[in-house]
Amino acid sequence: MHTLPISFKRNALTFLLTAFFSSIFIAGCYDEKDASDRDNSNRVGNRNLSNGIILFIGDGMGEAHRQAATYWRGDTLIMDEMPTHGYSQTYSADSDVTDSAAAATAIATGFKTNNGFIGMDENLNVLSTILEEAQTRGMSTGLITNVQMAHATPAAFAAHVENRDMMTEIAEQILASGVDVLLGGGEDDFIPLSENGCYTQNGHRTDGRNLLNEAIDLGYTYVCEESTFNDVDPSVTRRLIGLFADEGMPRPYSPTLEEMTHKAIDILSKNPNGFFLVIEGGQIDWASHSNHAENVISDVIDLDEALAVAMAYAADKSDALIIVTADHETGGMSVDLNSSGLPDEDGPFFMPDGTPFYINWSTTGHTNADVPTTAQGLLSESLVGVNENTYIYDVMLKKIGH
Ligand SMILES: [Zn+2]
Repeated sequence: MHTLPISFKRNALTFLLTAFFSSIFIAGCYDEKDASDRDNSNRVGNRNLSNGIILFIGDGMGEAHRQAATYWRGDTLIMDEMPTHGYSQTYSADSDVTDSAAAATAIATGFKTNNGFIGMDENLNVLSTILEEAQTRGMSTGLITNVQMAHATPAAFAAHVENRDMMTEIAEQILASGVDVLLGGGEDDFIPLSENGCYTQNGHRTDGRNLLNEAIDLGYTYVCEESTFNDVDPSVTRRLIGLFADEGMPRPYSPTLEEMTHKAIDILSKNPNGFFLVIEGGQIDWASHSNHAENVISDVIDLDEALAVAMAYAADKSDALIIVTADHETGGMSVDLNSSGLPDEDGPFFMPDGTPFYINWSTTGHTNADVPTTAQGLLSESLVGVNENTYIYDVMLKKIGH
């Protein structure tokens, strides 16, 4: 048994205190009228500070995944043009090769934990997450993914369970956490066995609860298809939940990560205290498990298009911090201009100028390869070099403490 480090004890205590006070604090510090008043004062002072953090996580997105998308597009990805380039070490507390639960927990809480754990340390103590820290500072928060909302990566920012498969429990915790904008798939974790909601499959919940009805009662606008999503007016919407599939969203994604990011930023950026938003390209990992390079490339480009929205938002806000990283590499992917002739090779794919390239895979699982982490904005330069994945949490916490 490990002795808990002092920093953890402080972390756990902070969580207990914030869990107690956060709802009171948030309710007291931000309403729409207040927000517009403060926006005006910012403009008068010629300051345009957002105090925002936008974190992009390409699930399973290693160096070769980015390279393949670059070749396909025939141009550098926006994520690779960011001024800070570094790498994250992804191993978990109990394995050289992490899963998404332990890796997302490391990024979300600053602690390495065991594979499968969500928002808890190796001894099953609850850890406070960067999203919860943002909430205690009166910031708005959002989670976007194209897999299930209760899947490991978004879950680690707003839930605390000892097994990532407890997805109906995770859905309940995510809703209770008060995240302002929730957009993705995974309707079934929010509705009972007896109901099918907007999509064909019945829900997974055995407790009979319909969390989407509960969300509406809590003041959320609820949507489940692209047309109603498009109709959501960000200027009058404070809380939004949109679930667009029974499980993971089908291709082509509708709405896209880009559209969801746009809507989320428009809603969240009204808060003068700033916001914290996570956008996960969750199916990069799924495509990599299937060794399906074409879907990998398409999903990396989707994530990059969502990043373009964040970059446009941040263009005149020097303090906004934007980070693009991955939880781990999936597939042992490699890209080559020459055919290897190996049976698991994908391709040829072609660059816009007709140059062929080929993709090889060494596994259908995860690897322990360091993953690229690129960033821009206040404190982003700290992410240069090779760092533990937990360091991303440290930098984000310092940013919102600024
Ligand atoms: Zn995976």
